[in-house]
Amino acid sequence: MTSDFEAQLRAVSLRVTRPRLAVLAALRDHPHVDTDAVIDLVRADHPTVSHQAVYDVLRALTDTGLVRRIQPAGATARYESRATDNHHHVVCRSCGAIADVDCAVGHAPCLTASDDHGFVVDEAEVVYWGICPDCVTRSEEGNR
Ligand SMILES: [Zn+2]
Ligand SMILES: [Zn+2]
Repeated sequence: MTSDFEAQLRAVSLRVTRPRLAVLAALRDHPHVDTDAVIDLVRADHPTVSHQAVYDVLRALTDTGLVRRIQPAGATARYESRATDNHHHVVCRSCGAIADVDCAVGHAPCLTASDDHGFVVDEAEVVYWGICPDCVTRSEEGNR
């Protein structure tokens, strides 16, 4: 697995460092986590990696497109390593849980706007808002 991450880093001309590998591994295992959670995950395995190092790594990985930053309205920024397919997200209004939603058809079809107003479009962001199953169950139990 680690060698995959090394190849990804080299593909975008980033030096292979332990903090970068650790952040990529954390995001593979825990998609859609915020900065604090990434720091906790990385430091659980690598206690010597500083908070600032994790911030710097997240910025470098996001800038080079290895990591995607998503920020639903009113929520803290989350990060994920599934960065290249322009998939969408469903967000729970109650607890903030996030799950991936594939595009309905084909390869990033939502990039083809019905009218792009002359803009060169390179990303489409769709957020489906709703209530997650856990919160639905909780509220049903609360009503009993
Ligand atoms: Zn929820
Ligand atoms: Zn996602």
